[in-house]
Amino acid sequence: MKREIPICHHCGEANGVKKHGIAKSGHQRYYCALCKKTFQTNYIYKGKEQNIAAQVERLLTDELTPEQISNEIRVRLSTVEQHIKHLARMSN
Ligand SMILES: [Zn+2]
Repeated sequence: MKREIPICHHCGEANGVKKHGIAKSGHQRYYCALCKKTFQTNYIYKGKEQNIAAQVERLLTDELTPEQISNEIRVRLSTVEQHIKHLARMSN
């Protein structure tokens, strides 16, 4: 039940979003047919820290490694590790 397609960074809809190749930086790019713009997942997740935290927490519960979580939600490993540290602090 893995959800690979993110919501559009521009209009917030997932309906028109399709994969659109890989950027030079190595990030997956997406194209939104609704607003006819492209975006990258790394970019979209910035500013959605709460969302990342919730996903990291959920995947940790599923016993995924930080590397697997990084792949799963398409954020940098360092970002995942930051959230894990944060979660550890909160549970202490
Ligand atoms: Zn859009």
